[in-house]
Amino acid sequence: MGGKEGLPLDPERFGCCLRRRIRKDLIRFEREESMIEYTLIRSKRRTMAIHIKKDITLEVRAPLKTPKAEIDRFVMSKRDWIEKHLAAIAQQADNRARFSIRYNDTLSLQGREYPIIAKEGKRAGFDDQCFFLPPALPPDEIKRVIIQVYRAVAKEILANKVNDYSKQMGVMPAAVKVNSAKTRWGSCSGKNIINFSWRLVMADDDVINYVVVHELAHIREHNHSERFWRVVASVLPDYERRRKKLKEFQRKLANEDWD
Ligand SMILES: [Zn+2]
Repeated sequence: MGGKEGLPLDPERFGCCLRRRIRKDLIRFEREESMIEYTLIRSKRRTMAIHIKKDITLEVRAPLKTPKAEIDRFVMSKRDWIEKHLAAIAQQADNRARFSIRYNDTLSLQGREYPIIAKEGKRAGFDDQCFFLPPALPPDEIKRVIIQVYRAVAKEILANKVNDYSKQMGVMPAAVKVNSAKTRWGSCSGKNIINFSWRLVMADDDVINYVVVHELAHIREHNHSERFWRVVASVLPDYERRRKKLKEFQRKLANEDWD
């Protein structure tokens, strides 16, 4: 015995080689008499930060050696912010859980609202006046079919926009595809294949055009450098306003469950 093997294992000492250690800690907010649970992630960082995750859990990031009591005090000092944001996210989750689509509801396409109409003897589709579906489908089936219609319409809308803007910008994508991405509105691969989420066509043209121009600009600049933003601005000088609208749209859509 003796030597290194004799030393007790101190989990704290592994912090530096693991870089990320995850541990669940509980902190009680005395005044409110409520409990807030958070996941503590220690790493080689200089400051503490709090993140609220999509699953409504709290993550606290802290430097390797900050004492637990100091971290608790930090979390406590952010209590109002945490509670406000937790409530907003819980509300969003609640709205998503209640989300369903029925006949005669309206749905957004390019920022305009169109009703969902039952039509006997017809396949599902979109005719510039309404989304139409066979009658008497259960809600889950309505959603599944509506997503198919959206995807088909998105392909057409986005292909047309890419066609127009790529001429204007003097670029040529290798292909244009539509996928079901939940958080990525668009992407441009190294081979200049452009992907869009079908969900994008629920937004208005200000937003759709911005995402189209953004992805086409990546054919010129595969990065987000100043040069990239200059390419975007040369086509859409008001792109920053459009980016803000995209964020608003994203927040609104977070209340709907299209998965
Ligand atoms: Zn980009």
